Amino acid sequence: MRLVTYLHHGMTGVGLTDADASRIRPLDQIDGTPIPDMLTLIRDGLEAATPSVMRPMLSRAEVALLPPIQRPPRNLFCVGKNYREHAREFAESGFDTASNSALPPHPVVFSKLPGTVIGDRDSIFYPESLTEALDYEAELAVVIGRAGRSIPRAAALSHVFGYTIVNDVTARDWQQRHGQWFLGKSFDTFCPMGPVLVTADELDPSALDIRCWVNGELRQEANTRDLIFDIPTLIETISAGITLQPGDIIATGTPAGAGVGFKPPRFLQLGDEIAIEIQGIGRLVNDVF
Ligand code: MG
Repeated sequence: MRLVTYLHHGMTGVGLTDADASRIRPLDQIDGTPIPDMLTLIRDGLEAATPSVMRPMLSRAEVALLPPIQRPPRNLFCVGKNYREHAREFAESGFDTASNSALPPHPVVFSKLPGTVIGDRDSIFYPESLTEALDYEAELAVVIGRAGRSIPRAAALSHVFGYTIVNDVTARDWQQRHGQWFLGKSFDTFCPMGPVLVTADELDPSALDIRCWVNGELRQEANTRDLIFDIPTLIETISAGITLQPGDIIATGTPAGAGVGFKPPRFLQLGDEIAIEIQGIGRLVNDVF
């Protein structure tokens, strides 16, 4: 299923959508009650949802598309330096706080606050007085469906509800200055997400093209087969000591071509538009305001 969370006449809902998210069919629970949000659907399971017979099909123009999960239940798990070429460009940029080894021997995991999440077409706020190094990072995000701890690689994908797109927006100067990455990754609006969430039964995440444009110029182009640590490895690692919960999100890392990788760096400016596409999922567009 291709799922979206939408706002229509002041009410949020979850619906099925088509390839370009132009039409939305609202989803109900089996008893006909509207499903209010994606977390409810994830926790109750797809088998508890049915296309609404009472409510009409909606067009894109009638609704606002929201992030698939508007407010994640807790911090997003994010993976750093998970594509070889990006690990190299970041190590060479001078912005890495641990640049002695470009390729990490183990997954580098940090987190991002839930309040960073915004939707397609929402604006990334540029705090001009705070940063001069605002950057974009196109990433495939995994949405956990079934709770688990110490999940082995072989069972990892059975815990996945689906996949979406995130932009792991970063203030590089804050990332560098404060040692840990948390502050520079967690400014308000620093996590555009969605708009489409594709359920795990419909997508093989192991070989998806991922691209990112800034003002129409292609900056990032890669394939998820180039991940250093694949999704089962990430789930096994994160869940080793932490119980993953339904609705948890894992951003799997960004490929080469982030602004920090250029010489000199090409950071975002006011008015820029960032578009990210992931094969089989869709397109996420945001501007810098
Ligand atoms: Mg990232």
